[in-house]
Amino acid sequence: MKIAILSTEPSLYSTRKLVEAGEKQGHEVQVIDYLRCYMNITSMKPQVIYKGEPLEGLDAIIPRIGASKTFYGTAVVRQFEMMGVFTPNPSQAISQSRDKLHCLQLLARDGIGLPVTGFANSTKDIDGLINTVGGAPLVIKLLEGTQGIGVVLTETYQAAKSVIEAFRGLDANILVQEFIKEAGGADLRCFVVGDKVIASMKRQGAEGEFRSNLHRGGKAEKIKLTPEERSTATRSAKAMGLRVAGVDLLRSNHGPVVMEVNSSPGLEGIEAATGVDVSGKIIEFLEKNAEKGQVRDRIED
Ligand code: ADP
Repeated sequence: MKIAILSTEPSLYSTRKLVEAGEKQGHEVQVIDYLRCYMNITSMKPQVIYKGEPLEGLDAIIPRIGASKTFYGTAVVRQFEMMGVFTPNPSQAISQSRDKLHCLQLLARDGIGLPVTGFANSTKDIDGLINTVGGAPLVIKLLEGTQGIGVVLTETYQAAKSVIEAFRGLDANILVQEFIKEAGGADLRCFVVGDKVIASMKRQGAEGEFRSNLHRGGKAEKIKLTPEERSTATRSAKAMGLRVAGVDLLRSNHGPVVMEVNSSPGLEGIEAATGVDVSGKIIEFLEKNAEKGQVRDRIED
């Protein structure tokens, strides 16, 4: 097959590993900086042009779109979809997963376990909002935050109110969430490929830190999921329309609850913690699913 990895960072571990895994299976793999792609969207024959040359004959792409480049990145993925090139993660699914609120709404619609979560635009309704999620302590999140930045734990009602007012004063979009104390600063990263969890790890936040992000000093170890956790992870990826996804769960008193579903999950942490050849599994998935023409007109309303 002819495979393109859409990434702005050819030297990143995840990009390199996907190239290696594809080449090992005898495929022709190239890294395409999607920010350098341009397109003629009015043409009868949709094309993506890269550094002056139209990209032709591709069987599959693997989008690795950076969080701050979602708008242009998904436009490029959409153009490939119009050309009938297979993508495990469609453009629409990537856009939806990038918006935490939209993501939670889609998961809630499918009856997936979530922390009690509230959202409001006006600061006039703060008291009602805080009461909706059961009062303090609670977690306040910037909708556009990643890597734990913009996730704040407020212990008291007054602190919660001040933080909400401050964020809204800056016009930031936030959501307010029940604090899952019993998770003990740990979360579970479930790596889904197709309709299976192929690797899972537990990330434990640094001492005194409620956020488990590895970027914030968290430590990871391999973990065996319960059947309920496994099915929550695969159902979440399915609800979002993602076939390569990192689903983050917390272990709560009311069962597994989903934090978020990531459409470009990193490979380094999970491969190191679990020893699973995650990149190889992604390539295998493409081999089984990327029949040419299969995805033409997959854009939905
Ligand atoms: P980001 O996308 O920035 O990583 P998350 O929503 O995943 O933000 O939150 C970062 C981390 O903070 C989570 O992995 C989890 O460890 C912790 N966390 C987030 N929300 C809650 C919550 N409601 N209760 C307990 N811990 C939480």
